[in-house]
Amino acid sequence: MPVSVVWFKRDLRVSDNHALTEACKSPHPVICLFNIEPERLNRKDVSEIHIQWELDCARALGKSLEHLGGKLLFNFGNVVNTLSELHEEYEIASVFSHEETGLNWSWGRDKSVTKWCKENGASFTEYPSNGVIRGLQSRDNWKGQRDARVESELISTPVSIQSPDDLKSDRIPDAKEIGVKPRELLERPIAGEKAAISVLFSFLDERGRKYRSGMSSPILGRQACSRLSPYISTGCITIRQILHYSRRKQKQVRVNPRSAENRGWTSSLSSFQSRLAWHCHFIQRLEFETTMDEIAINPELDGHLERSHDEGRYQAWANGQTGWPFFDACMRSLTATGWINFRMRAMLQSVASYTLWLPWQDTGMHLARLFLDYEPGIHWSQVHMQSGVTGINSVRAYSVRKQSEDQDPEGNFIREWVPELTSVPAEFIHEPWLMTQEQQELYACEIGTDYPSPIVDEKTSRKEGVSKSYSAKSKPDVKKRSILVYEVHGSRKRRNG
Ligand SMILES: Cc1cc2nc3c(=O)[nH]c(=O)nc-3n(C[C@H](O)[C@H](O)[C@H](O)COP(=O)(O)OP(=O)(O)OC[C@H]3O[C@@H](n4cnc5c(N)ncnc54)[C@H](O)[C@@H]3O)c2cc1C
Repeated sequence: MPVSVVWFKRDLRVSDNHALTEACKSPHPVICLFNIEPERLNRKDVSEIHIQWELDCARALGKSLEHLGGKLLFNFGNVVNTLSELHEEYEIASVFSHEETGLNWSWGRDKSVTKWCKENGASFTEYPSNGVIRGLQSRDNWKGQRDARVESELISTPVSIQSPDDLKSDRIPDAKEIGVKPRELLERPIAGEKAAISVLFSFLDERGRKYRSGMSSPILGRQACSRLSPYISTGCITIRQILHYSRRKQKQVRVNPRSAENRGWTSSLSSFQSRLAWHCHFIQRLEFETTMDEIAINPELDGHLERSHDEGRYQAWANGQTGWPFFDACMRSLTATGWINFRMRAMLQSVASYTLWLPWQDTGMHLARLFLDYEPGIHWSQVHMQSGVTGINSVRAYSVRKQSEDQDPEGNFIREWVPELTSVPAEFIHEPWLMTQEQQELYACEIGTDYPSPIVDEKTSRKEGVSKSYSAKSKPDVKKRSILVYEVHGSRKRRNG
């Protein structure tokens, strides 16, 4: 009996899902498949929290599919082998999936599926799910194409899914059943499409009012930011859906923007929508360069910088033991929760690259594993930018001291995540090493024993990093490459991020 297969990857939802809707229009019964390749577990950028999250989202997807009469098969193995097995049993006529923009590994896997389909007489159709344009000829035309895509009508959810009569859904296993040691996160979000929609509405109904004013703070940002990123990265919700409802809110606000009820919303919604555009802008970079985890988009610039690994510095950075309280609080908070706001992510990467002069590949990989919302296209683009290896963005090295005073003046965030400093007053909380011996005793925190001394002098090292970066950026071969980088990757409206 011929069947259509919907191969779910990072599109774990039934609504606004072109592949699923088109498969249901085909004349054949539909089999839904979610596959995890064992090789992924060994990839350096994949961690246990990602696999746990995907499995949880897949479990929620399975329930939504069942409501529609669909069945979700799960397989832990090579996807081509899985298709071959299904083909023997059912004869696959068509495979439907979404266009995934990933690193070389996922490209290779998707190409092997294309090849398998060709060899076995099955059609393979991949549908875009965001504003990333496959085969884009020029960045000049990108914005128009992206806008048309994300502003188009939402794809309707199939009314029902006809599955082969003899087919049963598989149970989605727990992470440990496939050999992944679970790691619990504090404040772990609820998985799945329904939860994604409810997080979106809690943002658009209330939390988002303070988005503009609260997004840069690691404390206020927890509530004020949308917190949609883990859902977007596993495809529990699309950028088109988010934009659709955010525009609807914008229309309501425009009727009377100055009313007490609408205060704060105009600027917040506009900032939020810019970020939704950045999402696609950055992933478009990876669509062109699938080796961004290894090779800088400006390799000449990266070559001149000559950063080098230093295990002591790396460990202190990665474990939140640098001796800079605000930095350590941010790293520890991220490690415990799987999320931190944009500005603090930028600071974590910038300190690694400019102040500690560590290679961005290692530090970017560490952050990738910590972010529950790891999205390769955004992640590696941002790692490049915050490490100054694009040649088209300004050199921006974050000062920990400034961020600490701006974002956590009283030191409350620091005390929450760095209990060694619980008794240290606001006066010394940003630079506790300035306390005298007597004060250290008084506040029960001996620097160098209870809490580390600063790993390097932050100001001096950061300035050195900045100056080496400017000098590398001015080399003729770097300038030449930067022109090309701008042609291929540069934002045509204004430089962002
Ligand atoms: C070094 C570094 C690494 C990053 N890695 C990731 C990553 O792996 N995955 C990821 O989703 N984001 C990443 N970001 C971007 C940003 O920090 C997160 O998208 C954001 O903090 C997620 O929280 P939110 O959903 O509440 O964001 P909101 O501020 O509510 O934004 C809504 C959505 O817009 C998009 N967005 C927001 N800011 C950016 C940005 N600067 N660039 C591109 N898209 C953006 C995201 O899809 C986000 O979910 C990274 C930033 C830096 C500096």
